[in-house]
Amino acid sequence: MSTTIQLVNPADEQPLQKVALTSAAEADRAIERASAAHASWRRVAPADRARLLRRFAAAVDASVEELATLEVRNSGHPIGAARWEAGHVRDVLEYYAAAPERLFGRQIPVAGGVDLTFSEPLGVVGVIVPWNFPMPIAAWGFAPALAAGNCVVLKPAELTPLTALRLAELAREAGIPDDVFQVLPGEGSVVGRRFVEHPLVRKVSFTGSTAVGKQVMAGCAAQVKRVTLELGGKSANIVFADADLEKAAASAPYGVFDNAGQDCCARSRILVQRSVYDRFLELMEPAVTGLRVGDPSDPATEMGPLISATHLSKVASYVPDDAPVAYRGSAPSGPGFWFPPTVLTPSRPDDPVLHEEVFGPVVAVVPFDDEDDAVRIANDSEYGLSGSIWTRDVGRAFRVSRGVEAGNLSVNSHSSVRYGTPFGGFKQSGLGRELGPDALSAFTETKNVFLATED
Ligand code: NAD
Repeated sequence: MSTTIQLVNPADEQPLQKVALTSAAEADRAIERASAAHASWRRVAPADRARLLRRFAAAVDASVEELATLEVRNSGHPIGAARWEAGHVRDVLEYYAAAPERLFGRQIPVAGGVDLTFSEPLGVVGVIVPWNFPMPIAAWGFAPALAAGNCVVLKPAELTPLTALRLAELAREAGIPDDVFQVLPGEGSVVGRRFVEHPLVRKVSFTGSTAVGKQVMAGCAAQVKRVTLELGGKSANIVFADADLEKAAASAPYGVFDNAGQDCCARSRILVQRSVYDRFLELMEPAVTGLRVGDPSDPATEMGPLISATHLSKVASYVPDDAPVAYRGSAPSGPGFWFPPTVLTPSRPDDPVLHEEVFGPVVAVVPFDDEDDAVRIANDSEYGLSGSIWTRDVGRAFRVSRGVEAGNLSVNSHSSVRYGTPFGGFKQSGLGRELGPDALSAFTETKNVFLATED
């Protein structure tokens, strides 16, 4: 087993640094230290814990440029996107910094005494992060978990550990005590597995593929360990004939090609009402061919490379020579894991590109007849994470929103993630919700205490 991983810049294939991989024994020791640290962290006064989280947020704010630059090199994200991601970590920390002083219980009327509920921290929480959004997804786990009084061990993806490692340093510099927040770069089958198996880890918050998520869930079952899963997607962008077609067509590429399509919320199926199908494809073409794909450090760049050579060949396998390509955008030639934005018009409903998560800049456009047909096609998926509905008819917007089986929908927009609103999937896209006002409940247990008042 290798003890280090050589990181590579996905935009030019130049080697970056080597990072040491945590062994199973080191992971166990980190978990034990986290468990020991929990005894005092859970007793930190709510206002003090809130203050520490605000200081952590301020340290991230002062390091936005540094974190963004690291992500550009490690993950190939365009600099504009990477700055947003680092700023999002600050925002999530600020949002949950308000939580320690607002973890209210309830007083419930009962006979013979007083009944109170408390929201108790779980202990050590293991956060497992994928490579596609290393910073935001880490923060969705560690910020509410810490706010609720847990200690966190976090495993970044093998390929993208750099920003998480820097975030752990910033937490320390901000005064978060030793061992309360530890980042353990390493392999899923080693470190991730210890999070699942070690009895002192009381909850696993997993984001990644549906296949690994199922293994994590099965592993957690052995100890009835709490688990949150944020998994894959095959989301639909539904465009009705009455929509602002120009706006829908101009924005559709951004709803799927953002982060080079390596986005669990990518609207990788565009369903267009048959009467405007040809017109929509025509209108979308300049937005696809005009997409600025190239050097991630250039602020004008809109799309960067894929994460790795292996992932590039997986994405390319969905576009064989005889694929029904309507048109494609550009991509740099030469080194780097580049794939151009690609629009397909598959004719068979069982085409794999309509059902499997490509996780690259490939979108399939298909026609539908009416509202029922649109909802039927949108729901013809084992996934149910996200989606968009474009229409000027408010009643239809709500009817279709209620009909589509997905956790995060937007009408006349492609927004999916706001730190103040719940995020998560239906069906095989996941289990539980992150972000928003209720995320704390995923990192606490409700304890009920009855106090007798009668002699
Ligand atoms: P992955 O499942 O291969 O890996 C995710 C993480 O799990 C990595 O840190 C990996 O090391 C770890 N892991 C691997 N095997 C493990 C095991 N046996 N036990 C414990 N941990 C293990 O996924 P990926 O390729 O890194 O990420 C892409 C996937 O993530 C896509 O399917 C995407 O849709 C999904 N994703 C979902 C969301 C969401 O919020 N729903 C967000 C981002 C990404």
